Amino acid sequence: MTLTDLPYDDLADALTGLRAHVAAPVAFPGEAGYEQAAPWNLAATVQPAAVVLATTAYDIANTVGFAGRRGFRVTVQATGHGALSVASDTILVVTAGMTGCTVDPVARTARVAAGATWQHVLDAAAPHGLAALCGSSPNVGVVGYLTGGGVGPLVRTVGLSADYVRSFELVTGAGEVLRATPEENPDLFWGLRGGKSTLGIVTAVEIDLLPIPEFYGGSLYFDGAEAPLVLREWARWCAELPESISTSVALLQLPEMPGVPEPLAGKLTIAVRYVAVDEFDDAERRLATLRAAARPILDTVGVLPYAAIGAVHADPVDPMPTCESHTLLREFTSETVEVILAAAGPDSGSMQTIVDVRMLGGALAREGAHRSAFCHRDAAYAVTVIGVPAPPIAEAVRSQADALVAELTPWSTGGQLPNFAPSDDAGRAARVYDEDTRHWLAALAERYDPAGVFRCGQVVRFVD
Ligand SMILES: Cc1cc2nc3c(=O)[nH]c(=O)nc-3n(C[C@H](O)[C@H](O)[C@H](O)COP(=O)(O)OP(=O)(O)OC[C@H]3O[C@@H](n4cnc5c(N)ncnc54)[C@H](O)[C@@H]3O)c2cc1C
Repeated sequence: MTLTDLPYDDLADALTGLRAHVAAPVAFPGEAGYEQAAPWNLAATVQPAAVVLATTAYDIANTVGFAGRRGFRVTVQATGHGALSVASDTILVVTAGMTGCTVDPVARTARVAAGATWQHVLDAAAPHGLAALCGSSPNVGVVGYLTGGGVGPLVRTVGLSADYVRSFELVTGAGEVLRATPEENPDLFWGLRGGKSTLGIVTAVEIDLLPIPEFYGGSLYFDGAEAPLVLREWARWCAELPESISTSVALLQLPEMPGVPEPLAGKLTIAVRYVAVDEFDDAERRLATLRAAARPILDTVGVLPYAAIGAVHADPVDPMPTCESHTLLREFTSETVEVILAAAGPDSGSMQTIVDVRMLGGALAREGAHRSAFCHRDAAYAVTVIGVPAPPIAEAVRSQADALVAELTPWSTGGQLPNFAPSDDAGRAARVYDEDTRHWLAALAERYDPAGVFRCGQVVRFVD
């Protein structure tokens, strides 16, 4: 019998003492505070044995120590943007209350607590003209994003966001509170950048900030009928782009709801996202080619303060159910374009909300100053298909997205990025990591989490 099979009363008995071990509020099912386990991605079933609303590293260390002795697992959630199902053999540490962020404008660094979102860091850095290398949505958690590498809207220019991490503070599966830098516990410093929560729960991270006060960019949105013209032109145009420019394109079917601009609501549109951090005149000239391909129905491109970086993708803010399919491509050819148009273009019958193609390369392709567990720097493009798996079409949405990714196999590297299409399926580690990285992550997990307390979600372990 596993803990999951125990009736509720026995589970409650097994958890007796958690409150005495942890200073932070603890909530069991049905109690006030338990609702804070609700993730941003409402498609994930998050029903842990207990929720610990952590406020300090010691709350986390004490929870992990307790769980290790009682045979529970522990997992962590900040915002739930990358949530996976959590069952009743697992204690969930919610870090959402740990939002501290201190900027050192002279050193150009920020020390960020486990539950902070990128918006917290953008707000703290902006008054100093400094930029935090976030992803497309400022509402995503800093630590969840960085432990998956982090591929943001400036990725071709600045590279992987995790390459700008200076140090982590963490709790290991053995309940130790450690610091990881290139010099101190360098194995953990390597594995935490790409390995998600395999090696521990990060309690704080120190990152570099860049002196980027503003950017030239935004999105050009076109009517869905223009998708063939725009996508074909985008594919050709990307080949000429310098690495000072980052871009992605997305076929969108956004619902009619508050927050969705009227020209984009309830129909197919296509968005070209664009960011340049210098030589704004050249950037504007290059974009003219796409403006000439078709007439935008909405144009948000301009010189914007860096703090407005979230406006480029304008990702959804409110919690919603989502499912993702994802793959990395070696190249984006005219044939690839036609496959995507047939699956998600006009009259395709696509049920997907977003089909997103990000151009990679540039600075991302170069290893950072300190090697990390992030793999697949050689990929040229990332494709992510995002749907809303709502009954009665939930399964149809998922299988249609998987079918689109399967059709891209001829151009796929077979790889995936750690942050996209989160899943705890057994084959995922082999797609996210090369063999050596997988081996070393699993070996380090044996060392730092011998009891397997963190065996939950997308962690890398030797197969039993
Ligand atoms: C709208 C949207 C936009 C996104 N844009 C991008 C993007 O541009 N680029 C990109 O790379 N990714 C992007 N992502 C993916 C996102 O980076 C991951 O889902 C990330 O894991 C979310 O972190 P979170 O803390 O917000 O989510 P959570 O669901 O709270 O955490 C997800 C996972 O992160 C890890 N984690 C969280 N906190 C800790 C911790 N303290 N210690 C150790 N591990 C931890 C755990 O594995 C956890 O299961 C996006 C996701 C969404 C939904």
